[in-house]
Amino acid sequence: MSVFERVSVVRRTLDYRTGTEGPKHDPYSFDEWTVTKQVQHGPVWEYILHTGLGVTLQVYKDEELIQYWTDEEPTNLWLHFQNLTGIRVDHLEKVYQRLHGPHLFCDKCGSHELSWSEGFAGEQIQYCVKCNSILWVADPGPCII
Ligand SMILES: [Zn+2]
Repeated sequence: MSVFERVSVVRRTLDYRTGTEGPKHDPYSFDEWTVTKQVQHGPVWEYILHTGLGVTLQVYKDEELIQYWTDEEPTNLWLHFQNLTGIRVDHLEKVYQRLHGPHLFCDKCGSHELSWSEGFAGEQIQYCVKCNSILWVADPGPCII
């Protein structure tokens, strides 16, 4: 067998979203990190770490939920997440910023209401909706870790 057959291509992506959950009169903010991973033409794995009212970790294989952790010590779930994705939970924000741009919120006014517009040559410009600061200019292309 040639050496090339032993080379596997791993594609990983990282996404982040935030929002609120729980009753309308007492909403609770949540953070959700999603790592997708695919080795060559193998199944697509998706790991979703949700921190809000509770902490849950879901594992999907080709969009089918195959593992679900909840009601455990968050540190246990973080460890599971780290073992599965290879990314430390306390590094998530750094990794995300490296991939998607340096900002999850505006460092000028603190707003989380950020948006993107297209600049010259198709690059994406991230800006703050509230104070209009330009936060990050990203080259076009998929975000691959
Ligand atoms: Zn701002």
